Amino acid sequence: MKTIKGHAVGKLPPKKEMVKSPGIGGFLHANMSESQDGRVFNADHPMIHASDTTKHEFCPREWYLRYKYDQQSPPFHIHTSMKWTFDFGWWGQDYISKYLHEQLWGSFSKDNMKAHCSFGTDYPAEKGWVYEEPRFVHPSLPLSGGVDIVLKGNSQPYPNIDGRLLVEVKTIKADTFKTLKVPLQEHVQRTNLYLDLVRHWAAAKDNLDEWHLEHAVIIYACKGFGNKSNPSRANGETFSPFKEFVIKYDPSLTQAIWDGLREVQDTVVAGSTSVPPKRICGSKAQARAQACCVNGVCFKQSL
Ligand code: SF4
Repeated sequence: MKTIKGHAVGKLPPKKEMVKSPGIGGFLHANMSESQDGRVFNADHPMIHASDTTKHEFCPREWYLRYKYDQQSPPFHIHTSMKWTFDFGWWGQDYISKYLHEQLWGSFSKDNMKAHCSFGTDYPAEKGWVYEEPRFVHPSLPLSGGVDIVLKGNSQPYPNIDGRLLVEVKTIKADTFKTLKVPLQEHVQRTNLYLDLVRHWAAAKDNLDEWHLEHAVIIYACKGFGNKSNPSRANGETFSPFKEFVIKYDPSLTQAIWDGLREVQDTVVAGSTSVPPKRICGSKAQARAQACCVNGVCFKQSL
């Protein structure tokens, strides 16, 4: 009988035993999760990220103690499902900014080149320029923050607004999206903080008149496609995965944060000897104290 490598022609070779495999899911779980170092706040890096001021009630004492004892926040383990959620959010923001590229102001990069404070029309996407989230640093207080998108004045989406407009992009779950009638309070507060931060940044750069900071936009993008009951849109589509809100600047929402930042600046960053900030927690058992990386030293200190 004719054979190939010892097997009769026309017959399949004996099956190899199926080895138990991790599968693609197992592979992703083994490779996607990661740990990130906690944030530092010390003499070498005297800067608080805007997102860290609105997660919990802002406590100037926490930042005073972190600076004084060079206490880094604990490392942050991002397990696979959280990483997927974060990356999906970044992808959504990036995807939307690609469509808006010609309408944008900010930083653009390509290979090793960078263009700051520029317009998408000058650095076109089709020539490989990529938009980067614009970052702002307060001129005198320890605060920095990145705004998702800045639209140039008289952009196509907002032709009547003649200054640059801040836009925050949020991707949310389909069930939250379905019932969303107003923007979430945490997002409104943080966007207001960015309006103030950019106001101070632009005033220091003497270009405040190039901005429109009386309003900002929060656009929610649905991660699923939910129910399809939205009213008809101009092009005949009956459903939008986006809900867009124009919010009005309201300084009262961020007053406590700014007061707290000034207290941090006066009591520790500037090296003043004034009285340390007071506790906002009644005990170590309180939820706010439990979320604080200096709760131990806070309750050991008599002040
Ligand atoms: S335990 Fe409470 S009062 Fe003390 S520093 Fe932390 S957040 Fe502030």
